[in-house]
This record gives sequence, C-alpha cells and structure tokens, in this order.
Amino acid sequence: MRYRGCFDGGCFCGAIRFRFTDVHDSGYCHCSICRRSSGAALMAFANTPRESFAVTRGTPRFIATTAEFERGFCPHCGTVMFSRSVDPARWAFVSVHLGAVDRAENIVPAVHICVADRLPWLQVDDALPRVDDAQPPPPAQRDDPRWRT
Ligand SMILES: [Zn+2]
Ligand SMILES: [Zn+2]
Repeated sequence: MRYRGCFDGGCFCGAIRFRFTDVHDSGYCHCSICRRSSGAALMAFANTPRESFAVTRGTPRFIATTAEFERGFCPHCGTVMFSRSVDPARWAFVSVHLGAVDRAENIVPAVHICVADRLPWLQVDDALPRVDDAQPPPPAQRDDPRWRT
C-alpha cells in the first residue's frame, strides 16, 4: 500500500518530532529485535524513502541493533521511533515505527514479516501476506496465493 501525505510523529515526551511524506510499504514485523527494542509483542512499521523523512525537533540518539541497522530513540524518554541502515547505499528507506506516528490509523499495515519469529500465543487471523524473513514480496506481487498461507 503506497501513501503520500504529510505524516508527523514523535516520542512519548515530545522532545523529538519527525515528519515524512511518502510511504512505500507498511506492515508488521515479528522479529526479536523489534520486540526487544519496542517492548511490544510485534511492531507495526511504515517504510519511507530517506529523503522523505526529517527530524523536525530535537536530536535523537541511535543504537546499533545489528551490524547494518540502527534505531533512533529519544534520549529523554527512551521511545524508539525509527530504524535505518547505517549505510544509506544499502537500504534507501527509514522504517518508521507506527506506534510513534500521530495519525497512524491512516497507514494500514499490508504484510507480516519475520513470521518465523512470531510469538506462538499471538494469533493473527487477518488475510495479509506473510513471509518468514524480512524480505516481503513487492506490494504489486502480493496477490500470489503462496504469500497467503
Ligand atoms: Zn521523548
Ligand atoms: Zn523486526
């Protein structure tokens, strides 16, 4: 699902604010890193091109969550708000954590990723495509029944 618009968000205490305008994909991630860094059972995200994303207030800090990815958080309240590659040439997006977006009801998750890591008690009964890893099929190819197991 692709969206254009003006989406604002920020951390719990308001010290950090951000804005983005172009959503290329959105979904739920079940990986252990998203769970651990958010404290939640899964994490909803929206991927926006790096050039579409800007911090509009404050200065987030970053924690390396893998060798390739880092997550931005508020140094005051600790809210983790977005993920990005440490090397923009490798991945040209920012993955915004939807829980930190002001009107997140306007961006609807379209895929489940890292389903192999899903907590077994988490029952998912929607009809969205699911993949076991972090490589979802492009949105245009998701009608293929093999993604709907
Ligand atoms: Zn904060
Ligand atoms: Zn994840």
